[in-house]
Amino acid sequence: MTRAHRSGHRTRWAAAVAVTALGAGTVRARRRLAALPVLDPAGPHDTARPPLTGWQLITAPGVVADEATLRAAVAHATREGLRVVDLIPAHLDAESVLGLLRLLDPAAHRTDRCAPGHGAGHALLVADDLHRRAGLDTEPPPQSVAGLIRLLRTLKEYAPDATGWAVAPGLRSPHPDPARRAEELRARGLPPALLSAAQLAGLALLVKCALSEPRWGAAAAALYWLQPAAVLSPARGLRPAGLARATASRPLRSLSAALRTLATPPAEQPRSAAPARHAAYIADLAAGTDRFFEPRRTDCPWCSAPDPVVRVRMPDLLQGKPGRFTLEECRHCGHVFQNPRLTPDGLDFYYRDFYEGLGGEGASLVLGRMTATYRDRAELLRPFTTPRAWLDVGTAGGHFCNVARGVWPDTRFDGLDMGEGVHEAERRGWIDTGYQGQFPELADRLAGRYDTVSMHHYLEHTRDPFAELDAAVKVLAPGGHLLIELPDPESRIARLLGRYWLPWFQPQHQHLMPAGNLKQALEARGFTVLAEQHGPAHQNNADFLGAVALAANGVVPDPLAPWATVRPTRARRAARSAIQAMAVPCYAAALAVDNLRTAVARATDGGNAYRLLARKELG
Ligand SMILES: [Zn+2]
Repeated sequence: MTRAHRSGHRTRWAAAVAVTALGAGTVRARRRLAALPVLDPAGPHDTARPPLTGWQLITAPGVVADEATLRAAVAHATREGLRVVDLIPAHLDAESVLGLLRLLDPAAHRTDRCAPGHGAGHALLVADDLHRRAGLDTEPPPQSVAGLIRLLRTLKEYAPDATGWAVAPGLRSPHPDPARRAEELRARGLPPALLSAAQLAGLALLVKCALSEPRWGAAAAALYWLQPAAVLSPARGLRPAGLARATASRPLRSLSAALRTLATPPAEQPRSAAPARHAAYIADLAAGTDRFFEPRRTDCPWCSAPDPVVRVRMPDLLQGKPGRFTLEECRHCGHVFQNPRLTPDGLDFYYRDFYEGLGGEGASLVLGRMTATYRDRAELLRPFTTPRAWLDVGTAGGHFCNVARGVWPDTRFDGLDMGEGVHEAERRGWIDTGYQGQFPELADRLAGRYDTVSMHHYLEHTRDPFAELDAAVKVLAPGGHLLIELPDPESRIARLLGRYWLPWFQPQHQHLMPAGNLKQALEARGFTVLAEQHGPAHQNNADFLGAVALAANGVVPDPLAPWATVRPTRARRAARSAIQAMAVPCYAAALAVDNLRTAVARATDGGNAYRLLARKELG
């Protein structure tokens, strides 16, 4: 086969894949659109008119709702048991509708407590009590579509199963402002530059296919071109302004939107936006990082056997803060631990801006995408017990409890964590009571109060896992259940990937114990192990995708991070961007390998993590 033949073959395949993807996307968008309710402003009259008190309408500049629309929206919310409704203008332009339908699955997100709150961002109907609980009565209302998009994400967190969407034919709204596209994508938690680059690559591929592959290529290009009309006409409720024009000029508009978004400068440079943060880090680092470490120990903290050996050494590949970390392994029991370990001050330094502050939004985006895992953990109890009072230790923002509530609606969920997030989780109603502090210190106060305690990816972060297990014994009533999930240091992939195995998670993880060790420790405390899972606890994308992310981050750490000790020169920033761009195909490949790996992990009950369910003795 000649080179020209091979290339023609590849183009045909690419075109066929594009046709399939575009066709599936079109069908999906039509299905989602059909699931959007349409308000009927001419609906129930006089007698059935609900009162408008108790509701607030928040609109973007230039958006106007008449009274009939407002009444219809309140009637819809009351009928459907909603506390928030995102009102979508019927004349919303075609690209905005298509963009929204890529993110929003109205039928699924209505009941998925963890699904993000995506909306059109033009008008929000919000119940007064929710408005207050989310603290909005003390803040000025948002002044842009991006502001409303951001606000809806917050409100969905406060009303996880009472947020809805409706097309509002009576809502008048101005034309979208293309200059604000980058800002609006960021408000949705999406990276504008990466998306625009992908959009340009997609357009280039379509042009190449259309030119060199008459049948499949032309079909793909036509499908792309006509997609707005294929999705939106004739659509129930929506009548996008200028649909014919938008369809005709789609490739050109798409090209200009992508270029314009790429040319928009980033919203804020972390360093210039937060000089105080940068100054605080530089002051902390002035005395060096050695003071963050305790002396190296010469025995195993788990079994006291002498002379542990080095398992792996690495820098901070997560955030790129200065410092080097060593994990050692006990030759006798296989326990893996950070040695020398960080002092409490050191832990404070390296945790800062990870789960809260600068990294807060990213961390909560990741934690918010694990619904299936959370549900599996909650379901693990079902064959053994019906939980009534559940304490989730290391709950962070309470994401697990938010989903577990859907599985066990009559159970009381409390959360405990070192961070401020527990209070926010309590305000959102994801947990009933939040306790901020160290578990062993709070255990006396909570003694005997719970029939279930969970610790998901928590024990490995603690300084003394035995003290944590003792605390669990204390707060559990006799016969209570303890659910633990941990990374598995016996994973074979850990050996293969070395320092780039994400679950090493340095410098945060202090102890990584093999399942056998943990079972012994539980049995020594009077627990009976009821279930042990390896395959189902495997975390997808933590192995290969994680390794690519760590490696890309490690090559050129972010020079704009507030803890960066180098100047953010143009060259360093360009190098960082170049490496991130070069990593894109690696991410795609890693994603594919990870999916395969997850299938194997499930089939062989081996993976990068494990779960144990144990019951405390009745006596
Ligand atoms: Zn040991």
